[in-house]
Amino acid sequence: MKTVPRVLLVEDEPAIAELVSVNLRHNGFQPIWAEDGDAAQRELETALPDLILLDWMLPGQSGLSLARKWRAAARTKSIPLIMLTARGDEPDKVAGLDAGADDYITKPFSTQELLARIRAVLRRRVPEEAVQAVAVGELSLDTTTHRVQWRGHPLKLGPTEFKLLAHLMKSPERVHSRSQLLDKVWGDHVFIEERTVDVHVKRLRESLGEAGSMVETVRGAGYRLTAQPQPAQRAG
Ligand code: CA
Repeated sequence: MKTVPRVLLVEDEPAIAELVSVNLRHNGFQPIWAEDGDAAQRELETALPDLILLDWMLPGQSGLSLARKWRAAARTKSIPLIMLTARGDEPDKVAGLDAGADDYITKPFSTQELLARIRAVLRRRVPEEAVQAVAVGELSLDTTTHRVQWRGHPLKLGPTEFKLLAHLMKSPERVHSRSQLLDKVWGDHVFIEERTVDVHVKRLRESLGEAGSMVETVRGAGYRLTAQPQPAQRAG
C-alpha cells in the first residue's frame, strides 16, 4: 500500500486553509491544519509531517520566525518547507529562502501550481532521506518505504516507534541512554520527558510482537536492539 504524505498547513485564514486542504486530499495528500505557530508546534511534537506549507503572515509568531525555529531544531530541520507569501513581496521571498524554506508560492496561487511545487520539493528531498534498508537478525526496516518486517511478515508501527526502531537498528547491540534517544529520535526534547522514551519503547515492543524481545532494557543504562535476545531470567 502506498503511504499518504502528510502535509502540515499553517494558515490562519479558514477559507484558504479549507480550499488547500480539500485540494490536497483530492490529490493523495493528508492535510493537517494548524491555524498558528503554537498549534503547528503541537502537531510537530506529536508526529512529523512529510512537508510543511507555512503562511508568512500569521497571528503570533510570523511564518519567517517559525521557519527559522524549525530549521534550527534537529527534530524538524529536514522537513521540506514551502512558504506562502503575498504577491510581490520580493524581500520576503529572499528572507524566506534564507530562513531555510525550500520554495515559496505567491498568493493567490492555483491548485495545479501548489501541487506541482509540493511534488517538486518532495522529489528533491528524496535522495537525502534515502537512508536505505537495514536488517538485524530476521527483523528488517526500510526507511524509503516505511516498512518493517519480521520473518517476512509486515508489522505496523506508529511514526515515533518507526523512528525509534530505525535509530536502534542503525547501531545494533549498542546501548543508548534515554537522553541520547531523545536527542536522536525526538531531536528537540525541550518539551519531552525521559519517561516518554519508556512509553514508546513499550509500544515498540508491543508492535514488534515476537521480535519485541530484541529491544532490551539495560538496567541503569538505557536500551539496545540485539539480534540475540537473552531469554527472560527465571527464578530457580
Ligand atoms: Ca495569513
